[in-house]
Amino acid sequence: MLGPVILAASRSDKMRRFVSAAPGTKQVVARFIAGESVDQVVPIIVDAADKGLEVTLDVVGEDITTVEQSHAARDAYLELIDRLKDLGLGTKAEMSVKLSMFGQALEGGHELALANVRPVVEAAAAIGTTVTLDAEDHTTLDSMFAIHDELRKDFPQTGCVIQAYLFRTEADARRLAANGSRVRIVKGAYKEPAEVAYQDKAEIDKAYVRVLRILMEGEGYPMIGSHDPRLISIAQELARRAGRKLDEYEFQMLYGIRSDEHLRLAAEGHRMRVYTAYGTDWYGYFMRRLAEKPANLLFFARSILTK
Ligand code: FAD
Repeated sequence: MLGPVILAASRSDKMRRFVSAAPGTKQVVARFIAGESVDQVVPIIVDAADKGLEVTLDVVGEDITTVEQSHAARDAYLELIDRLKDLGLGTKAEMSVKLSMFGQALEGGHELALANVRPVVEAAAAIGTTVTLDAEDHTTLDSMFAIHDELRKDFPQTGCVIQAYLFRTEADARRLAANGSRVRIVKGAYKEPAEVAYQDKAEIDKAYVRVLRILMEGEGYPMIGSHDPRLISIAQELARRAGRKLDEYEFQMLYGIRSDEHLRLAAEGHRMRVYTAYGTDWYGYFMRRLAEKPANLLFFARSILTK
């Protein structure tokens, strides 16, 4: 019950101001956000690489309101890619981007987001890595998939994300699996209406398995984005049945969540990528993490009250 309330709050400016100013917030945010700047995140990328993990980097931010902010988002990724190049970490780190941060919701936003994301994808390719387009709320997805198709004409490794909770996703998975795309499958983190999405957790899990099967049996590269132990073992079994080798799919989990499991899967020989978010505009990302697990909210409330 709490999840939808927190997700609604994630879009409220009043709550953003309250949460950002609350004492104790920084300490809880630090569990999920790796740092505020490139300098702070670099040691974390290096440490992950030392442990046999790969990363996908998200410069947090979304729901921007000006074209200048969309350019700043592009530039933040270009700065990050420059640093990865200097560190020689291009093949260990890819980028995850939210098109809303690149201006997708502004007037003429589809073209603006494409124009902003293209140089990022080009720069990533130049250092031997790639970009994955995150999935945001359902109203943004037709534009996201069209941008993904457009980018793949020149950069076929560009990935995208699909969300098991949406009714449309099985059809999207079939199309993407047939055309050989890199696809991250996740349960879905936004507040979606019953007209477009399953609301029941068991229904979402069943849909996730159906989509996993499509991806594993298809021509693309499945990226299993989940911390759910049951889905992880089902993914391993489906990969085995589909005759996929260990380098023909990967697991992905979020920084700060089930870190032991990151290491366990990597030690088993799986490619394990840690989605590592950093930056100052962490509010939306942080609230979705609270919504996923109500215990996080209790922890957060306690840390505010004890400050
Ligand atoms: P759950 O059933 O929610 O969780 C399984 C277990 O994992 C829980 O019991 C708990 O132990 C642990 N866990 C899960 N979440 C948390 C948490 N926040 N705090 C503490 N413990 C937790 N969603 C999108 O809509 N678009 C995206 O582009 C997107 N990208 C993602 C990328 C990655 C790499 C991952 C892992 C998730 C992404 N998500 C995205 C979020 C996703 O949709 C889910 O909201 C999130 O992964 C929780 O679902 P779960 O599969 O882990 O299963």
